[in-house]
Amino acid sequence: MNDRFMNTYKRTGLVIDHGKGATLFTKEGAAYIDFTAGIGVNSLGHAHPKLVAAIAEQAAKVIHVSNYFMTDISSQVAEELTGMAGMDKVFFCNSGAEANEGLIKIARKYGSAKNPEKNLIVTLKGSFHGRTITTVTATGQDKFHQFFGPFTPGFVYVEANNIAALDAVLTDKVCAFIFEPIQGEGGVNPLDTTYLKAAEKLCKERDILFVADEVQTGVGRPGAFLACQKMGIHPDMVSVAKGLAGGVPIGAVLAKGPCADILQPGDHGTTFGGNPLAAAAAHVVLSELSSPGFMADVERKGEKIRSTVRSWKNPLVKETRGMGLMIGIGVTIPPGEVVVACRQKNLLVLTAGDDTVRLLPPLVISDAEINQGLASMKAALDDLAKAKA
Ligand SMILES: *Cc1c(COP(=O)(O)O)cnc(C)c1O
Repeated sequence: MNDRFMNTYKRTGLVIDHGKGATLFTKEGAAYIDFTAGIGVNSLGHAHPKLVAAIAEQAAKVIHVSNYFMTDISSQVAEELTGMAGMDKVFFCNSGAEANEGLIKIARKYGSAKNPEKNLIVTLKGSFHGRTITTVTATGQDKFHQFFGPFTPGFVYVEANNIAALDAVLTDKVCAFIFEPIQGEGGVNPLDTTYLKAAEKLCKERDILFVADEVQTGVGRPGAFLACQKMGIHPDMVSVAKGLAGGVPIGAVLAKGPCADILQPGDHGTTFGGNPLAAAAAHVVLSELSSPGFMADVERKGEKIRSTVRSWKNPLVKETRGMGLMIGIGVTIPPGEVVVACRQKNLLVLTAGDDTVRLLPPLVISDAEINQGLASMKAALDDLAKAKA
C-alpha cells in the first residue's frame, strides 16, 4: 500500500498488472475473474485488440485539441452516439458527475427562460448522481451528505415509485425531474416502468424536463443502448459516461427537442471533454455494440447469471434483480462479506446499498468466464452459509 494516496478508498490490497477479456492478473500473476469492469466502465473487457489499436493510432495522430477545433473522429462519435440514443445533440465531458452538472445547468437555463422561479430540481430518495457539491446534493441519500454542506439550493427529494408523491412536488417552480432508470449505487433497484411512464406524462403536461441519469445503466449494459429505450420512456435529456469509451475517461450530455439548443457560447464548457483520444475509444465501443446480436447476447448472459444464482437456493440469497448485465443479488448478510469471500476464490464483485452484491461484468465476457466466476461465487456463498448455519 502506498500511503501517499489520500485515504478515500477501502482498497482490496490487490495490485493489478494487466488484464485480458474479463480476467485481471496481479503483479504476482494471480488471475481473477472480473465481474466489476472497473465499476461498469470496461465494457469491452481488458486489452480488447480493436480498442487498444484505435487508442494507439489516435495517440500517434493527435491526442487532444481544444474545443475550438473539430476532429473527424469526434464528429463521427457525436453522430453515432446521438443516433443510438435517439437524441438530437451531445455535449462531451469527462465523467458522470460532470455530465450531470451539464444536465442541471441546461435544466436551470431552460426553466429560467420560462419563469425566474422555475429552478427546482426533483430527484429520488436512494439515488446517486455523483460527488461534486451539486451532484452530491442531487443524490438522495443522507450518508453522502455528511460534512459537505452548505449544499446547492433548489433540490427536492421524493420517494421512488410513488407517483402521488411525485405529483405533489412537481409544481410550476420545478424545471426538471432527474432519475436513474435502475438505481445503481443505491442497490440495483429498477424503477417501475408504470411509474416512469406516469412520471413522463406529468412532466410533459407541466413543461418539466424528464431527465435520465444513465451514467451506469447506459451504453449497452441493460441489453439495449439505454435502459429508457428498453422501458419505453422518452427522456428530454440523458447523461452517459462509465462504459462509453471502454475505460478512457468520458461523459456525455444528450438532449433532444428545445433543450438541445439551450446552451450558447460562453454558457458551459470543459477543457478535455470530447477529445479525439476519448472519441477514438468511444467509436470502437459504439461499433462493437452495433454488431449484430450484441445486445441480445448481453441480455442472454445477464439472464444466465441471474437464473443460475437463483437456482442455487442459497439461504443467504434473498433475490436477484437488474437488467442485462447490471445485476443485483440481495443478500441477508453484509454484502462486503460476500465480496471478500468471492475474492478469496479469485472472483471480483461489488456491493450496492446495504444488502446487495452488484455484478457489472464486461459486456463481452465469455461464457467460460461467466461459468468460472459463477462457480467461485457458488463456492463462496456455500462457505458463508455453512459458517453462518
Ligand atoms: C457513477 C455514477 C455517477 C458519477 O460518475 P463519475 O464518473 O464517478 O463522476 C453518476 N450517476 C450514476 C448513476 C453513477 O452510477
